[in-house]
Amino acid sequence: MLLSIKEMELRKVHFAETWQPGEFVFANADFVLKSPLSATGVAALLPHTGGEVEVKGRVKGDIETECDRCLGRASFHIDAPFDLFYKPQSAMNDAPADELAIDEGEAEMGFYELPGLELEDIIREQLLLQLPMQRVCREDCKGICPICGVNRNETACSCQAQSGDDRWMALKNLHI
Ligand SMILES: [Zn+2]
Ligand SMILES: [Zn+2]
Repeated sequence: MLLSIKEMELRKVHFAETWQPGEFVFANADFVLKSPLSATGVAALLPHTGGEVEVKGRVKGDIETECDRCLGRASFHIDAPFDLFYKPQSAMNDAPADELAIDEGEAEMGFYELPGLELEDIIREQLLLQLPMQRVCREDCKGICPICGVNRNETACSCQAQSGDDRWMALKNLHI
């Protein structure tokens, strides 16, 4: 769905979109939608800002991806609000480059080009932001044994007792 700037010039643009599993395309093929994904909210031009747009709403859905530790499936329930600001691309082109670099307050600001903003792009980005840095199937996932390669959630291998590196490996995994 296009959030049209032209329409925003007349009124606020409300949206309530739902994508069924399979309908929403992720850049990363590892991500799979497991329940209908919904995005509701409103997009509006902010007065006296030279074309700044606020997109505010809520995104809800279930995403499945690969577990960082055991390579099994890890699922995440996402239900989160968002409140985003976008400036016209021309505002960025007009400003001197050094000014843009220094103004950290604008780091969170996105840019748009006419005819407007694609809701799917916004939602895709929000979903990624909502996923935890470490994506595990469960908090206590034991992962893959670094020595024999078995999935330790399914099989207790005998390497564990012998290897003094286990704890180090667990720590290392945390930082990947
Ligand atoms: Zn796992
Ligand atoms: Zn093992």
